[in-house]
Amino acid sequence: MNIASGLTNPVPLAHEDRRTLNGPLHAARNATMLALIGNPRPTYGTDCAPVVDPLIKGLIVTEDVGPFRATGLAPAVAVLRTILADIQRDHPAIHAALGSAGMLCCRLVRGSATAISNHAWGTAIDLTLGGVLDSRGDGRAQAGLMAIHPIFNRHGFFWGAAFRIEDAMHFEASEELIDRWSQDGLFGARPALRKPGLTIGDRGPQVESLQAALNRHLPPDDLLLVDGVFGKDTRAAVAGFQRSKGLPPDGTATFRTLRALGLG
Ligand SMILES: [Zn+2]
Repeated sequence: MNIASGLTNPVPLAHEDRRTLNGPLHAARNATMLALIGNPRPTYGTDCAPVVDPLIKGLIVTEDVGPFRATGLAPAVAVLRTILADIQRDHPAIHAALGSAGMLCCRLVRGSATAISNHAWGTAIDLTLGGVLDSRGDGRAQAGLMAIHPIFNRHGFFWGAAFRIEDAMHFEASEELIDRWSQDGLFGARPALRKPGLTIGDRGPQVESLQAALNRHLPPDDLLLVDGVFGKDTRAAVAGFQRSKGLPPDGTATFRTLRALGLG
């Protein structure tokens, strides 16, 4: 048996183990990716299609990450290079066998008609060992992938072996890492425009800014308390403002509403 075939031996993953494989990390949700990075393109199918959104296009790079070149979102490619350097140091035989089956690819999750794959944002990568792909959905993972997944986790990458349909070849930037990159301003210049709409129950500084902006359009007797809590009065004020601007008066401060208020 050569080294590569030893590394590709499938190791069983018990169902209950799979859910704890990534420790505190979570898979990045579509809602988060769309809200914080944007939508790479208007439609998705089962085959790879190119990024259309110019802001996201501007974040895509192709760089040498060690054992291969990778095309993906700039911060993801940078972290991947660090991960691969750690693998080279700790597991040189695995590093030598590693290949890529693709990073950036705008498509749906395999088998889904609605879920967008995180490959669409170039924050996920599929790995091969000795040119061999791990088989998806069999609840087993190649031994080499099993050995290196803690290194991915340490750098904030989530391992697809924990997906509902096991996908051990797949590693992606976790929900937590996407949040951090967003807070660090790595997704471009105007993140406020891209946040999800504010609605009843939301709290915080964004709601305070909204209330202050609405007050500039309200008569002195109807001013909102600027308390950062989106309650019924704020909803009514948003709906009134939307009506005055010809926007659908749903009382949710959508991107368009925020923009009309001069926010974002
Ligand atoms: Zn994948």
